[in-house]
Amino acid sequence: MTAAGTSIVLPVDLRPSDGRFGSGPSRVRQSAMDMLTAAAPTYMGTSHRRDGVRDVVRRIQSGVAELLSLPADYEVLLGNGGTTLFWDAAAFGLIRNRSQHAVFGEFSGKFATVARRSGHLADPVVAEASYGTKPQLVADPSCDTIALTHSETSTGVMMDVQRPPGASAETLVAIDATSAAGGLHVNPTEFDVYYFAPQKCLAADGGLWIAAVSPLALERIEELAAVRIAPATLDLGIALENSRKNQTYNTPALATLFLVADTLEWILANGGLKWSAGRCDRSAEILYGWAESSSYATPFVTDPSDRCRTVGTIDLADNVDAGAVASTLRANGIVDTEPYRKLGRNQLRIAMFPAIEPDDVATLTKAIDYIVERLPHTQR
Ligand SMILES: *Cc1c(COP(=O)(O)O)cnc(C)c1O
Repeated sequence: MTAAGTSIVLPVDLRPSDGRFGSGPSRVRQSAMDMLTAAAPTYMGTSHRRDGVRDVVRRIQSGVAELLSLPADYEVLLGNGGTTLFWDAAAFGLIRNRSQHAVFGEFSGKFATVARRSGHLADPVVAEASYGTKPQLVADPSCDTIALTHSETSTGVMMDVQRPPGASAETLVAIDATSAAGGLHVNPTEFDVYYFAPQKCLAADGGLWIAAVSPLALERIEELAAVRIAPATLDLGIALENSRKNQTYNTPALATLFLVADTLEWILANGGLKWSAGRCDRSAEILYGWAESSSYATPFVTDPSDRCRTVGTIDLADNVDAGAVASTLRANGIVDTEPYRKLGRNQLRIAMFPAIEPDDVATLTKAIDYIVERLPHTQR
């Protein structure tokens, strides 16, 4: 690596207790890894259709229900393949004919593209906003499913989870909560499907999707499973059947399941979503507060109420090379502060998930100041 500034060495007091600030995969709690190691001899390498692993799935299902305060008639489904696979499954098993999408970044755009290319759905209706803002969506009566994104991880914009004005009682509201579930406040009566993967707020590993599903969405899944032929791995009817037996259709990563259950119970033991989202609120106050008072850093998202509390995007002044800052941090063991690659901005992106200590976010801001003072300022 030849980037300017990588020879800068951070003093010990400017080193966070953990250097992982990536927006996914993100910091995994060492205590969870230790618990996994301790459990491994009787857990890893055992059948996912026996009580040992199914108990862990049960703990995930009840843990998500408690975390999100789900009404008793909601169910928690899970399957392999992460959020990206869930979009494909939704094109078969959730969207009846046409979907409406709020698109304001890379991830929300990808789901709209899935719907557009499905081959069996009508062209989606898209409400788009420029990156760094969010669209105001009014339900289109021709759409049976509305796709929103609680936290747009690529831009650091969050939106409140609310049924859009004009949405009929039959319209499903499906929320991509991949970098939100467990870190942002939410009212479950405002969604029908709240889906996510656990390598972000739940401090586990990737490869799994989890969805909290309302009775209306359960009905839709059963309706479409009966009339539409889907590849088995994308068939939400099959996922529902297996989830009700506390298992996945095909073999899951047992370590991922274990880490999810452990993080959920860690959050619940500390006070639940109020506590974990409160931690993210505190980290966000620290990060955005620092940027607002900085002479060279500015929150990318201009409207303070749109600034996501789990993923922060910070623009740097033109004469400060964000790439050099990120690589200097990396050389000092502080990793993954680079911006979302396709955004192409002079920016740092910093995750503030529940497992990331607010004090570490504060230390990180001081480390950035230290580096910027010592970096050769470039003329850009
Ligand atoms: C990370 C992310 C995804 C993709 O998740 P995978 O598990 O990698 O498929 C989708 N949506 C959002 C909002 C994300 O942050």
